[in-house]
Amino acid sequence: MLERREFYINGKWVAPHKPSDFMVINPSTEKQLAVISLGGIEDTNAAVAAAKAALPNWMSSSVDSRLSLIKNLIDIYKRRAEEIAQVTSLEMGAPIDMARSEQVPAGAWHLKNFLRAAENFEFDRGLGKHAPNDRIIYEAVGVAALITPWNWPLNQISLKFGAAAVAGCTMILKPSEQSPLNAMLFAECVDEAGFPPGVFNLVNGDGAGVGTQLSRHKDIDVVSFTGSTRAGKEISRNAAEGLKRLHLELGGKGANLIFNDADEFAIERGVLHMMNNSGQSCNAPSRMMVEANLYGLAVSLAKNIADEVEVDLAGYEGNHIGPVINETQWQKIQDLIQAGIDEGARLVAGGLGRPEGLTEGFFVRPTIFADVTNDMTIAQEEIFGPVLTIMKFEDEEEAIRLANDTEYGLTNYVQTRDAARANRLARKLRSGMVEMNGKSRGAGSPFGGMKHSGNAREGGIWGIEDFLEVKAVSGWTVS
Ligand code: NAD
Repeated sequence: MLERREFYINGKWVAPHKPSDFMVINPSTEKQLAVISLGGIEDTNAAVAAAKAALPNWMSSSVDSRLSLIKNLIDIYKRRAEEIAQVTSLEMGAPIDMARSEQVPAGAWHLKNFLRAAENFEFDRGLGKHAPNDRIIYEAVGVAALITPWNWPLNQISLKFGAAAVAGCTMILKPSEQSPLNAMLFAECVDEAGFPPGVFNLVNGDGAGVGTQLSRHKDIDVVSFTGSTRAGKEISRNAAEGLKRLHLELGGKGANLIFNDADEFAIERGVLHMMNNSGQSCNAPSRMMVEANLYGLAVSLAKNIADEVEVDLAGYEGNHIGPVINETQWQKIQDLIQAGIDEGARLVAGGLGRPEGLTEGFFVRPTIFADVTNDMTIAQEEIFGPVLTIMKFEDEEEAIRLANDTEYGLTNYVQTRDAARANRLARKLRSGMVEMNGKSRGAGSPFGGMKHSGNAREGGIWGIEDFLEVKAVSGWTVS
């Protein structure tokens, strides 16, 4: 079993102040994979002190020098991609091919997009011709706490790291204790890339420990968090005392509006997107809503597609889906499937228990419920498993009302060949992102939500701005 108890503080791997062992479990086998240590307040303090000490030089270094370190990091990360994919797959259950083609490349992609965004960003600019002696200066917010989840771990880490590094913030990363190993490899890449000591630090820990210590710490200036809405609320309370800047990327319950004139792949695309990563994506299109005339056909098509989705061990090559992250999550999904049955939704695919032939591992059957109504628990709660709900709508107005009738607002999806209707819907849906007709967002487009899905915008210039303060200077001498 792998032993990785150290933390990365001030440019070195150091032993925890007081060891507190935590077992990382392989969700495909339920066996212990590695032991890490959960940090304590002394470890948190040491990391924050290192980041604070490194801040003055880092924030006043040239943007070009920071970008060149990010370029180094991208090269090293790409060189180690296979190793990172293996570890990610083992610890969080993404099938190895998916880890290679989606989970790991997402990290390099975001870092690269930040380079482009930074090149076009004016960190120092005039206010306008009407006020020639005014200057607007963007400068780093300060020391940043980055708290990340396990479901798309490298995607989240690189979105936060890249933006903070470009902005000139120093950082302490606390990755999810469920999937810390990929983050430790990322830290090794940062180390090799030559970032100055203290700019980036990593302390493992759980929410009650390091997560809370960072959120409350007097020397943390900004907390960037991705995870559950539950934790987002706790962090908000903890960060409030110090009036910290806070960016939250939280849960979702995306509607996928499918009109009669949708393209022929719309249903298949919706089901497969839902099942990808075993349903553990905050932006999953988990509520399929279908126009009345297409409804019957859509349900039978969706059932057939879900029945064909294979579930198997993460280590196997192929395009199956893997397990969900842990027993708690598995049980939560089972309880929600039971709630769907109890509340009268029609189970058309999957259901309770493990898929046939899999007697251990946190595997869930790809599940579809039809005839779902918005008052049901499964229509409102984020399930975070391979479970799709389908409901019917009569017209555009009802579609919008149903889609917006949720506390979440991350991504909504629209499928129609009527371009004017699609554009109309894009404006009416209350979510940070609207994806239409299977066209995914371009490089550097901001990722984030409204309502209980949070307030952050990650990626591209918006991601960088989350780590910047705006300073207005008057009486500036124009040279
Ligand atoms: P989680 O909230 O349990 O944990 C996320 C991270 O926060 C972990 O590092 C955890 O240790 C830490 N944490 C937990 N409680 C904390 C506290 N009180 N204070 C400080 N830190 C705390 O979430 P999870 O189960 O790891 O991830 C799944 C959730 O993340 C889902 O709800 C999903 O929708 C959401 N998510 C959102 C996005 C997005 O961008 N909107 C992306 C990915 C995941």
